[in-house]
Amino acid sequence: MKRIYIDHNATTPVHPEVLREMLPFLKENFGNPSSIHWFGQQAHNTLENAREQVASLFNAETAEIFFTSGGTESDNLAIKGAVSALRQDCSHIVTSQIEHHAVLNTCKYLEEGLKVTYLPVDKYGIVKLGELEKTITANTILVTIMFANNETGAIQPIEDICKIIQSVNNERSKISRPNVVFHTDAVQAVGKLPIDLKQLEVDLLSLSAHKINGPKGIGALYIRKGTKMQPLLHGGHHEKNMRAGTENIPGIVALGKACEIAKKTLEKEAKHLAKLRNKLWKGISEKIEHVNLNGLPEKCLPNTLNVSFEFIEGESMLLNLDLKGIAASAGSACTSGSMEPSHVLSAMGVDPVKAQGSLRFSLGLNNTEEEIDYIVETLPGIVKKLRAMSPIYKNKKK
Ligand code: PLP
Repeated sequence: MKRIYIDHNATTPVHPEVLREMLPFLKENFGNPSSIHWFGQQAHNTLENAREQVASLFNAETAEIFFTSGGTESDNLAIKGAVSALRQDCSHIVTSQIEHHAVLNTCKYLEEGLKVTYLPVDKYGIVKLGELEKTITANTILVTIMFANNETGAIQPIEDICKIIQSVNNERSKISRPNVVFHTDAVQAVGKLPIDLKQLEVDLLSLSAHKINGPKGIGALYIRKGTKMQPLLHGGHHEKNMRAGTENIPGIVALGKACEIAKKTLEKEAKHLAKLRNKLWKGISEKIEHVNLNGLPEKCLPNTLNVSFEFIEGESMLLNLDLKGIAASAGSACTSGSMEPSHVLSAMGVDPVKAQGSLRFSLGLNNTEEEIDYIVETLPGIVKKLRAMSPIYKNKKK
């Protein structure tokens, strides 16, 4: 059976050029970058080259890129690292209700000693800026809001958030209060949206290789020069004392290459993905009744489509799609398996029953028009079969 993978927000396949680039570092080029001999120096140069490739994707300085084990670690390091560096000034942090659990659960963990505000979103899943302005007080030290949401693809108003924080910081500089630090989890935005860190006043930004056709278990945190931070891990002097542990050179090489490819292809790829995504939504909305789009296409990642199919459970849809060779997702991958409606859709005010019938389709590099045609042909039959088993749907039809 032909298999169609349309779950790229969960993870992506490794790009063949990325694999080719990293393989020698799992074989003959195995040196430890801290060693002073030839093998070590070769690894050291490779590490710094990859740092440059990552920095270049965001127009950042190489000294501002710190390698980690992925998005979750970057989020933890950003939030806990900033909070512990500013502890004496810090009693309040701000985040949003739609963050990935890597951020939400880190903030929840910090609730023991700090006040945390979880900002609401509108019906399209976009953070309410007015609420952000109201919620920042003299005690606020960190704002952490994602660049784009993993479930709906909703792109957050990062530029406006930066402006709000900038104006608070301008006032603070007059009274010698420390700045509010701004972190954004850009794990889903990187490689899909252009990000220029010389234009955006972001202090900390998380990314992860496996969402941009790199391997799992490697990521990075951008730390703007001058941002006060404490490390999470203590040990050797790696990553300028910010992240102890011998560097994962094959992974780092792969992340560097994935960023280099993303920089070259981003614009063309985004257009291609948006075209496929729009075709998928057109097909679904024309062929199936009682469907709702969760989000706004013009404020959404080009590859993501989140749809509620009324009178159906998302899990049953997923199983039936899988039997036809189509791999999609219900809510975020990390929460699928639980029947709880997605916290993101709940925050958007989506009716819990509709939220349970929601599917996320997330496209990637290798998806084709033919695959979209196949999905559009296959879905109506599955929906019809499942709705025929729904007593609520049958009553509605009477
Ligand atoms: N943040 C977001 C928005 C994500 O989508 C994910 C993964 O799904 C993560 C963080 C965690 O990244 P990682 O899997 O690299 O730990």
